[in-house]
Amino acid sequence: MATTGTADVRPVDVGALFRDELREQLVQRRQCLQQALSRGQAVSAVRLLEQVDQALTRLDAGSLGICELCHTPVETDRLIADPLVRFCIDHLPQEKQRALEADLELAARLQSRLLPPKDFHFAGWRVAYHYQPAGIVSGDYCDLATTAEGALYFALADVSGKGVAASLLMSNLSAMFRTLAPLGIPVAELMSHANRVFCESTLPTQYATVVVGKAMPDGVVEFANAGHLEPLIVGSNSVTRIPSTGLPIGLFRDEPVKSATMRMEREEVLVLYSDGITETSSAADEEYGAERLARIVAHCRAQSPDEHVARCIADLAAFRGHGPQADDETLMVLQRADS
Ligand SMILES: [Zn+2]
Repeated sequence: MATTGTADVRPVDVGALFRDELREQLVQRRQCLQQALSRGQAVSAVRLLEQVDQALTRLDAGSLGICELCHTPVETDRLIADPLVRFCIDHLPQEKQRALEADLELAARLQSRLLPPKDFHFAGWRVAYHYQPAGIVSGDYCDLATTAEGALYFALADVSGKGVAASLLMSNLSAMFRTLAPLGIPVAELMSHANRVFCESTLPTQYATVVVGKAMPDGVVEFANAGHLEPLIVGSNSVTRIPSTGLPIGLFRDEPVKSATMRMEREEVLVLYSDGITETSSAADEEYGAERLARIVAHCRAQSPDEHVARCIADLAAFRGHGPQADDETLMVLQRADS
């Protein structure tokens, strides 16, 4: 998600929390360097200590995290990872830029391995999805897991921000989902647990909107929607929206996420999506929207999930025209199969 436009490239002086985080990191580095100096590891420690002190001075002056060449904010995730950075990606020396690109490509390969199989069949359900990062790595997450008792768990999430920091949180979600879902626990319990872990392991500025569902062979689906866009159940004459049942995870540690249960009929299709889909803009600056998505799905109702996905993505591409993809895009379609 593009997170209210601030999480990706953000001036450093927006939040005291973030500033405190940076200061703490710098002070910790300072202590480590002083210990190294006292042990006689002098050469690089002296130089690094100077750099840390310069960074602390820039933090006090409000210029930490501003590129020294173009004077625009340095990418937030890079600054969190290394408070000593002095240049934005565009103005890094060339060898550093190449190293960064190699790291990102490795991260993208690892991330693609976390995705579920394409065109998935299980216990009377068929699933297909589309997953397209806007950059090299994505802050979106989609996944599937099954239990020996015939339950199919599905998840779609959108992590605040973009880039490397968001993709790390995405892999955090993946590990949690794949550990908890095979246990067969209720989705509200799964989500509340994920929320607590997320609160304890992420930065105060990071959160995720998540939909998790547990689909049974008889069509009964239990949903928990933690602040995510409303999934759609598209039937022959109707579209049912599944409202949010709680706040995004990663914000309030002890806030439980509730769940709701519905039953899906054979003709019906369940559609989950990230805001990268519905907030796509046309050349005329119109928004794609969930209504259009539901209309496209309703139109090709009798087809398989992978055909639904292909139709929706083709329509989205036509709507966007020659404009760039602005945000990570994820779309997942589930359908009760005939047997
Ligand atoms: Zn710059």
